[in-house]
Amino acid sequence: VDPHLDGSGYWQRALGGPSQGRPSLSGGTDADVCIVGAGYTGLWTAWALAGADPSLRITVIEAHHVGYGASGRNGGWLSGLLPGDRDRLARGPDGRTGVVALQRQMIDAVADVVAACETEGIDADIEMGGTLAVATNQAQLARLEIALEEDRRWGLEPEDARLLDGDQTARRVRVEGAAGSMFSPHCARIQPAKLVRGLAAAAERRGVKIYERTEALAVGAGQVQTPFVTVRAPWVVRATEGYTAGLPGLHRRLLPMNSSMIVTNPIPPEAWAAIGWGARETLRDGAHAYTYLQRTADDRIAIGGRGVPYRFGSRLDHAGDTPPSTVAALQNALHQLFPVVRGVPICHAWSGVLGVARDWCPSIEVQHSARGGLAWAGGYVGDGVTASYLAGLTLADLILGRDTARTSLPWVGRASRGWEPEPLRWLAVRAVYGLYRSADRVEAAHPQATRTPRRARLADFISGRP
Ligand SMILES: Cc1cc2nc3c(=O)[nH]c(=O)nc-3n(C[C@H](O)[C@H](O)[C@H](O)COP(=O)(O)OP(=O)(O)OC[C@H]3O[C@@H](n4cnc5c(N)ncnc54)[C@H](O)[C@@H]3O)c2cc1C
Repeated sequence: VDPHLDGSGYWQRALGGPSQGRPSLSGGTDADVCIVGAGYTGLWTAWALAGADPSLRITVIEAHHVGYGASGRNGGWLSGLLPGDRDRLARGPDGRTGVVALQRQMIDAVADVVAACETEGIDADIEMGGTLAVATNQAQLARLEIALEEDRRWGLEPEDARLLDGDQTARRVRVEGAAGSMFSPHCARIQPAKLVRGLAAAAERRGVKIYERTEALAVGAGQVQTPFVTVRAPWVVRATEGYTAGLPGLHRRLLPMNSSMIVTNPIPPEAWAAIGWGARETLRDGAHAYTYLQRTADDRIAIGGRGVPYRFGSRLDHAGDTPPSTVAALQNALHQLFPVVRGVPICHAWSGVLGVARDWCPSIEVQHSARGGLAWAGGYVGDGVTASYLAGLTLADLILGRDTARTSLPWVGRASRGWEPEPLRWLAVRAVYGLYRSADRVEAAHPQATRTPRRARLADFISGRP
C-alpha cells in the first residue's frame, strides 16, 4: 500500500480513496503567501486570502494529499463549542468580554461554514441537528449540570444550551441507560473529507495553487524548504497542527494526541426505529474518556475516542493503523450505548492526530522579521472543525493588515509554554488517561453516585486540562 494514501479512514475511502491528482512542487518557487498544510486551517486561510485579494499568488504545500490529516479523518462535528479553557483565555487584555466574543464568533462560524459551503457548491452531507451530551449515570449528569451553570456564567443563553431529562432525551435518541443530556443547537453533522476536498477545489477556483506529496523540511519567515526547491514568500503560514512536532525546532510546541474512530456497516431500518436519532444530532457520552458519535448520511454510526492517546517522543503513526484493542474498546462503547446494533459489523477503523498545547488552549500567532512574516494557528485539541475556519479567516485578516472583530479575539497573539521533555510527557499522558478510565469504571459501577471520583480531578491537575 502506498503509505501516502493509506490510513485516511472511511471518509476518504467513501469518496473512492484520497485525492491524488495534484502535482508535487518542482519549480516556480516564488509566491506572495506560502501555506504549509492542506487541512482546514491552511485551506480556509488560502480561500479567505484569495477572496479578499485575487491578485495574491498563494501556494499551498501538502506532504501527502488534501485532507490527509485530522481534517479528513475527524468525527464530523461542525460545532460552536469553544476550544480551550475560558479562564485561561480570559487572562488576555479583554478579559471575560473577549471570551464571550470568541464564543459568539464560534457559534456564528457554524452557520458561516454552512453558508460558505452553499455558496461554493460544497456538498459535505451537512445536517444542522445540534448536539447532545448524554449522561448514563448520576455523576455524569451532575457534571453536565455544572457545565451548564458554567455556560450561563460565560454568557450562553437557554436557547444556546439546555438540559433534557431522560424522557426528553429518549424522544431524540434512545441511548441505553440515559439519565439525561445537554442539548445545544449550535452544531452540524458533516462528512469531513467532503468538506476538505470541496474547500480545496473552492480555493483553486479562486486561483490558489495546491501541491501534494511535497513535504516542507523547514518552515521559517520568508521561506519554506522542500526536498526539491525552496519557496520564497513574504508570508509563510504554518498549518500543520498535530504534525508540527516533526518540524525542526518545534518538537515540544504541540503534543500530537491520537484519536481513533470506527464506523459500522449501514444499520437496518428496524434498528433505527428502535434508536430514533432522526434529527442526526452529533452525540457524545458523559464519560471522562468520552466517545463522540455521528449518524452518517448513509445511516451508519461512526464513533471515536482516545484509543492509544500518545506515543513516546511525539512519534506519529502515519499509517493511521488502529490497534485491535482500540477497535474493541470503541465497539464495546457503541454496544453499551446502542445494544440493538450488536449484530452490525464494523467496516473501517482509523486514527488521526490532533494538536494540544501545554495549556490546552488554541492560538493564532503572527511574527514579523526582516526576512518576512511567519504566521500559524492551531492547538484546537478535539474542536478544530469550526475553529479552523475562524482561525483561517483571522490569519487572512492579520496577513492583510486588517483590524477586524476577529483579530482582537483572545486567542490571537497568545502563546503557551512548551511541553515537558520525555519521559515526563509520555508518563503524564499515560497516567492521565489511566486515571480517567479508572474514574469512568468507578462511575459505571455506582450509577447512582453523583460525585466525580478524586482520581479524575487528579488527572485534570496533572494534564493542566481545564
Ligand atoms: C479522529 C479525530 C476526530 C476529530 N473529531 C473532531 C470533531 O468531530 N469536531 C471537531 O471540531 N474537531 C475534531 N477533530 C479535530 C479536527 O479534525 C482538527 O482540529 C482540524 O481538522 C485541524 O485542521 P488543520 O488543518 O489545522 O490540521 P490537519 O487537518 O491535521 O492538517 C495539517 C496538514 O499539514 C500537513 N503537513 C504536516 N506537516 C507537513 C510538512 N512538514 N510539510 C507539508 N505538509 C505537512 C499534513 O499532512 C496535514 O494534511 C478530530 C480530530 C481527529 C484526529
